[in-house]
Amino acid sequence: MGKSVRIIPIECKFGPVSAFAYYVDALEPAIIDTGVHASAAQNIEPILAEHGIQMEDIRWILLTHGHVDHLGGAYAVWEMTGRRAKVVIPKKEARLLRDRNEQIVDYKALQGKYITDAVIQEKHIAMLTADIGDNIEPELEVKDGDHINLGGDVSLTVVETPGHSIGSVTFVLDGLNFAFAADAVQMYGGLSGLPTIEKPRLYRESVRRLLEEVRPSRLYLGHPFRNANGELQSAQITGEEVASVLQASLDMDAKLADVVERHLSGDIRSNESNGLYGPFESIAAELGYTGDPRHLPCAFFVTMHGYQEELNGTHNK
Ligand SMILES: [Zn+2]
Repeated sequence: MGKSVRIIPIECKFGPVSAFAYYVDALEPAIIDTGVHASAAQNIEPILAEHGIQMEDIRWILLTHGHVDHLGGAYAVWEMTGRRAKVVIPKKEARLLRDRNEQIVDYKALQGKYITDAVIQEKHIAMLTADIGDNIEPELEVKDGDHINLGGDVSLTVVETPGHSIGSVTFVLDGLNFAFAADAVQMYGGLSGLPTIEKPRLYRESVRRLLEEVRPSRLYLGHPFRNANGELQSAQITGEEVASVLQASLDMDAKLADVVERHLSGDIRSNESNGLYGPFESIAAELGYTGDPRHLPCAFFVTMHGYQEELNGTHNK
């Protein structure tokens, strides 16, 4: 495939944060990720209209993973295509599309362990519920190595890149090697100031695979993430910067693994506390993390939980 393919980044804004959806031009155009429920009408439709593209032109809705800020808008987008677009999601996260109550199940099993205030919990559950449209039965559940043909000679290969979530995938545009990794690559974290990593070992392997095997010519991320100096970078990365972004993600992972090991291993547990940072008070202090860990998606707690699990050897395969 020699010719280029037009990609339109669509910034879906909600509250103080944003998530990117990407339009991929082809005979059967695709949208990769969909923001939250309100994003379809507020961001996706108007931005595509500026480019002369109608929602009903979209033939594929490709979801990188099951978090609400990526699949929450899928139902509304699907409706706006006259329910004609084929909805694709990683097999391991299809339940989150099929039944939105699963979002709350996951929240209670992870964030809910650390968010002990019932009022905040209720607020989070209300937000999760509002951010996602109705349930959808996916047309296709994908796994590593699967291909999606958008017509003509435009196709994508599915590369499993778990770690940020258990089933995250990267869609790689064949020939051009553009990688739509969304949240599989986190650098030094987004607005929260910390990467969201559910399964550190898988995350590390996935980022290494992108760096050493896939070697993308462009990297399309889910959010603007921070660099080593704490500055937010563009979510669209090209050329030589791709490798440095992937390396920065590995560097932050190594730093987190080290700090968690020093603070949480052994018998001395000076960190038992019920303060704002729960059992990870001393780690927050060493990292200089001063954010409110109770803001969804509670990146601090999710990530600390993941590294602690890895340390304890209870990390799931
Ligand atoms: Zn995510």
